[in-house]
Amino acid sequence: MDAQLSQLDHRLETLPEAVALAELVERREDVQTASGRAMTEMADLSREQRKADADVEQVKSRRQRNQDRLDGGLVSDPKQLQAMQQETQKLERRISDLEDAELEVMERLEQAQADKERLAAGLATLDVQVSEHASARDDATGQISRQRFQAVAERELLVADIPADLLRLYDRLRAQLGGVAVGALHQKRCEGCRLDVGGAELARIAAAPSDEVLRCEECDRILVRTHESGL
Ligand SMILES: [Zn+2]
Repeated sequence: MDAQLSQLDHRLETLPEAVALAELVERREDVQTASGRAMTEMADLSREQRKADADVEQVKSRRQRNQDRLDGGLVSDPKQLQAMQQETQKLERRISDLEDAELEVMERLEQAQADKERLAAGLATLDVQVSEHASARDDATGQISRQRFQAVAERELLVADIPADLLRLYDRLRAQLGGVAVGALHQKRCEGCRLDVGGAELARIAAAPSDEVLRCEECDRILVRTHESGL
């Protein structure tokens, strides 16, 4: 009876459903952390992209101003004209470099966006799994708890018929002897410690009244006589 209770307690503590759930929750936390990182990266890259875009626009408008002056025939000095044409070429190259940089930022932003979406999908899947595993854990816990409740009720019924001093002895021995307070006497052997009971002791046991509480001389456990005690 008490062995059954211990077994049920042990099963409650080591439920595979609870272990699986804990692993899932841990994985979910990892994915959530990664998702948070991806979102931060997206925000950083968006900012970087806006800046790159502004840089391109700034150089483009400078080029446009140059172009407008050239088109408007406002520059007549050949030296100045040449200098402005050279500057326009420089600005073209600068624009091209800045646009390349912006494109690279946009590609990284797309990648971060894809990562974030993938992680969000993973998170949604994990949420479903966590919830399924939580129900499985609750079901298993509930089932074992009901069995335990039943076992406790049965134990109480049995204990009600046992004298208080014997029950105290039983509880004390159980605590001292690894959870097993009683050994059956089977074929002249104590099943608690698996040692043979000596001949003289066997004779004493055979003669003892049926309600006498017997103890194993070797392991101290309460010795219970059965039809196969070999007396
Ligand atoms: Zn024994």
